[in-house]
Amino acid sequence: MANKRILLVEDNEDNSKLVRFLLERAGYDILEARNGQRGLEMARSEMPDMILMDLSLPEVDGWTAARELKADPLTRNIPTFALTAHTLPGDRSRALESGFDGYLSKPINVHNFASAIAECLKAYKKPLD
Ligand code: MN
Repeated sequence: MANKRILLVEDNEDNSKLVRFLLERAGYDILEARNGQRGLEMARSEMPDMILMDLSLPEVDGWTAARELKADPLTRNIPTFALTAHTLPGDRSRALESGFDGYLSKPINVHNFASAIAECLKAYKKPLD
């Protein structure tokens, strides 16, 4: 079976490297975008199995990008998770209201990150059309 492909939308290069390292080691293929606009373009052209998206992003921020992904019939069924240090009360609900299917907080826990991703994929339920 082909590896699952995850699109990582993250403007911080160190975070990207860490996520790529942890997820490639766990058998995922990683695609990367450095800003929200590019993330939207790549979501549409690559149709990844999952999107992991930072919230504070240049060009188009993560909340806006999630809204666009979920408004588009082509991309709305791609599991899309926020990956962010915005962990104040209210941030989680704001992310979910924007259309994210879930939320992973930074800093990343290197010991369980890959299994957390697997759990997210397993728990994801396609929206009913
Ligand atoms: Mn950022």
